[in-house]
Amino acid sequence: MEKRVQSPSSIKTYKQCPRKYYYSYILKLESPPNVHQVRGNITHSVLEEFFNIDMSKITLDNYPAHLKLVVQQLLLEQWKNYRERLELVELTKEQEIFYFEDTLHMLFNWVDLFCGKIQRKKGTFQERFAALTPMRELLFTSQAYHIKGIIDAIENNEDGSVRIMDYKTSSSQNINEHLLQLGIYSLLYHDKHGVLPKQVGIYFLKGRESCVDVNEKLLEQAKKEIEHVHSRTQTEDVNHYPKQVSGLCKWSTGQCEHYDVCRPHD
Ligand code: SF4
Repeated sequence: MEKRVQSPSSIKTYKQCPRKYYYSYILKLESPPNVHQVRGNITHSVLEEFFNIDMSKITLDNYPAHLKLVVQQLLLEQWKNYRERLELVELTKEQEIFYFEDTLHMLFNWVDLFCGKIQRKKGTFQERFAALTPMRELLFTSQAYHIKGIIDAIENNEDGSVRIMDYKTSSSQNINEHLLQLGIYSLLYHDKHGVLPKQVGIYFLKGRESCVDVNEKLLEQAKKEIEHVHSRTQTEDVNHYPKQVSGLCKWSTGQCEHYDVCRPHD
């Protein structure tokens, strides 16, 4: 059988639990979205649109307040656009207000970081904004590795090198948990452009940004994990996808999206 095309999330799912991979990527079982997924999608859409704004009325004297207003308007718009998916999550009114305000708080935090970068640049506001505008939400596919991934932001450093960044809305802010994903992005970028990004990193929207240099170790680890998952996912026989029962099956406030099908504790 031909190798399946893997992605950072399919590889992460396999590493967490092969049976979960089987339900998600072989049976392709649909599951209702959870609030963290929908809120993550909304936040990504806001940050993608942020760089398309009309900048004609923004100057170096008014940009911090103006950019926060823009982000607030974009969040309201995207919250409306995702109304159907939000309804599937079945939040109470109070929960929805909580998540909206929490998301706005994260976005304001990111705008503060962005304003710091504007301040350190030279030129008019528009010139500084243009210099900081990344390429966004690009789908990369590699025939060589049979992988694909959507990269949130590709930034150009002043020395001509590139930095790849991903947005995360999670509370945990440990970049080591994301090295596999970042290594895969480096391979994807290299496969398409023939050069490696200099750095890869995460905008932890509840905190700061965090980056690592792209090096041989990062790439080799990613290649090893990709090959491992390819070698284990050639078959559609469920018996080759063992359950990995852990605290990620069910916890105090939620459960694995396939818990009811899987019944890991029976
Ligand atoms: S419930 Fe647990 S064992 Fe079953 S698929 Fe989900 S993570 Fe794996």
